[in-house]
Amino acid sequence: MKIKIMKFGGTSLSDPEKIRLAAGRAAAEKKKGFSVVLVLSAPGRMTDELFELAQRITPKPTPRELDALLSTGESLSAALAAMALEAAGHSAVSLSGAQAGILTDSAFSNASLLKLNPKRIIAELKKGKIAVVAGFQGVNSSLDITTLGRGGSDLTAVALANVLKAKVCELYSDVKGIYTANPALVSSAQKLARVSYDEVMALAEAGTEVRQLRAVSYAKKHKISLMLRSSFGGGSGTLIGDFTRAGKSPEVRCFSTRKIGNYSEITLLGSKLNRGEIKTSVRRTALMNGYLLKKETYAPGRITLITDRSAGTRFLNGLHAAFIR
Ligand code: ASP
Ligand code: MG
Repeated sequence: MKIKIMKFGGTSLSDPEKIRLAAGRAAAEKKKGFSVVLVLSAPGRMTDELFELAQRITPKPTPRELDALLSTGESLSAALAAMALEAAGHSAVSLSGAQAGILTDSAFSNASLLKLNPKRIIAELKKGKIAVVAGFQGVNSSLDITTLGRGGSDLTAVALANVLKAKVCELYSDVKGIYTANPALVSSAQKLARVSYDEVMALAEAGTEVRQLRAVSYAKKHKISLMLRSSFGGGSGTLIGDFTRAGKSPEVRCFSTRKIGNYSEITLLGSKLNRGEIKTSVRRTALMNGYLLKKETYAPGRITLITDRSAGTRFLNGLHAAFIR
């Protein structure tokens, strides 16, 4: 069996038409000869809405019941997608975390994986079915439903890729991949074809969490590559893997920004960034544009700059133009 894991995020499942689209992409891979495991998040903002709903009952729901509630968004996606597949003449089955064999500890709302027993998934794949797994859910040894932390469907997908021996885990969302900077802030931002696990973790530390961090460390540990793709278009995305860069000259790979009170923090990630020529370029860019650097720190892998909040986006664009070719 050539197994393919395809995970879709909430923004790609926010209405029935999008759910049908995701199902269709799974069916297309099945037609190519893959045994497909489709892992789904809850539609749109549903997890937040469920949380708000619980708050309207009580400000302090018991952790067990909160997980029982929050997990329902993913159950809904899985059932609807399996229905869509069956309605289109494909053979599919929806599976809860428990049915998919995802055993966790009892740390409700942020449970850790203990063991995966994919017997049922394998049996369904062997019958020629597309297995549609509800992400984010697990079950503890008492069969109570647990959840894997926000963004936890990523972890479901990566863990299944590992136990089913798929080398790549495909993660579909409303963005095409990882960019040199946030494309909403920098119009010339470029999509990166390959990004290392460590770079993804460094981005998260600097305020840009691209994927659930637990899922990224799990993938790194088990050597599962993550292919980030757009749910809506074709084309290549960003591959996250074990890439090391051995270039001799300094290289800025990407930028992360965040607002901190009245200040704007810009982080440059890359290699050999503590070299004099880099510092000179950063300061020249600031000077030329009249931006005052409140703080600047230079390490080989990262530069952190703090400037006035109002200058943040323009400074980011200036730096991007200076360092990204
Ligand atoms: N629906 C959950 C969340 O929003 C899990 C996920 O989307 O991966 O955090
Ligand atoms: Mg979600």
